[in-house]
Amino acid sequence: MKESNTMAGKDKSDLRPQTLLVRGGLERSPYFETSEALYLTSGYVYETAEEAEAAFKGDIDRYIYSRYANPTVAMFEERLRLFEGAEFCRGFASGMAAVFASIACQVKAGDRVVASRALFGSCHYIITEILPRYGVETVLVDGTNLEEWEAALAPGAQCVFLETPSNPTLEIIDLQAVSNLAHAAGANVIVDNVFATPVLQQPLEFGADIVVYSTTKHIDGQGRCMGGAVLGPKSFNDDHLTQFIRHTGPSMSPFNAWVMLKGMETLELRVKRHCESAKQVALHLRTLPGVDRVIYPGLEDHPQAALAQRQMKDGGSLVAFELSGGKSVAFKALNGMNLIDISNNLGDSKSLITHPSTTTHQRMPEEDRLHLGITDGLLRLSVGLEDVEDLKDDLTRALSD
Ligand SMILES: *Cc1c(COP(=O)(O)O)cnc(C)c1O
Repeated sequence: MKESNTMAGKDKSDLRPQTLLVRGGLERSPYFETSEALYLTSGYVYETAEEAEAAFKGDIDRYIYSRYANPTVAMFEERLRLFEGAEFCRGFASGMAAVFASIACQVKAGDRVVASRALFGSCHYIITEILPRYGVETVLVDGTNLEEWEAALAPGAQCVFLETPSNPTLEIIDLQAVSNLAHAAGANVIVDNVFATPVLQQPLEFGADIVVYSTTKHIDGQGRCMGGAVLGPKSFNDDHLTQFIRHTGPSMSPFNAWVMLKGMETLELRVKRHCESAKQVALHLRTLPGVDRVIYPGLEDHPQAALAQRQMKDGGSLVAFELSGGKSVAFKALNGMNLIDISNNLGDSKSLITHPSTTTHQRMPEEDRLHLGITDGLLRLSVGLEDVEDLKDDLTRALSD
């Protein structure tokens, strides 16, 4: 059964990365269109009853049903797969569908999962609330502390889940060191690579096994569609993921896959600009009154600047900063922005700002929140593609009123 686009006879692996983002995975229809075709179809037809039988038996490789595979989704999967340098890529309806599938497809009651504590709110919920309900033991560690990883992995584990840089405090986890510890304990390593994007960090190079994206963020990049992706070794797809997707249906919509394909063509350009502007915004924030702390992985004063430089090509689009005075001051700053929008989304061409402790991390117990540095004065800014001088002006105005 056709589950993905194998690009048979069209090996694109020798092309350079930016070319793969523009052309990777393209399979033209008999109409020879320039732009990728959008196949909005749920099903596929058979010439004969025998052909349908052969398709279901797996004797012929063809499309059967779009819950399993779709030609537009397959083009998206192949483009991201080539860029990431993975053996397989599967598209998902959302980032969270991808995160959940990457873990749920491989664990059973009695297994252990070890994860970093600084996680996106919904990833935290899956690890701490959903998996334990199914009898999976889950352990959270300080992702930056290798001794904690080692101790938590000592009894063995099925998998490790982590996010680097983390949301919203932009902590960096040593991918190579954690992968080594995990492999020694018999665990595979799943990395939520959303904040870094595939342009800035490729976790497979540092020993990770599986990479997960919310393509809703920088891969779409213009705040239009939801999507997710899981990449990794072929055996993981064959042994775990394929049947899980087929029978639970977290599949990506062909329309959203088409939007993501077009997003990938400009991904590198956009991420470069996001990084340049984010760095300038971070430097500017430092000069503004009431700003106690600015966290940006691309600056020398980030607590793990050397590790960030080793793992990431640049600092990314997100800047976190802390205002003295807590919630009331933070809210006043948010309400004082004229250009930057208040929104919990990120990785958009529009600059978006959020107050994590009352939004994305509201559900997290206060003790955990404070432990992670998510104070009432902390703001998370996703720096967009506007002229950076206008962003600086907006921040200056909002923080000095
Ligand atoms: C947004 C996000 C997700 C979830 O993705 P959705 O597409 O919103 O489901 C997961 N992890 C991180 C780090 C994110 O930023």
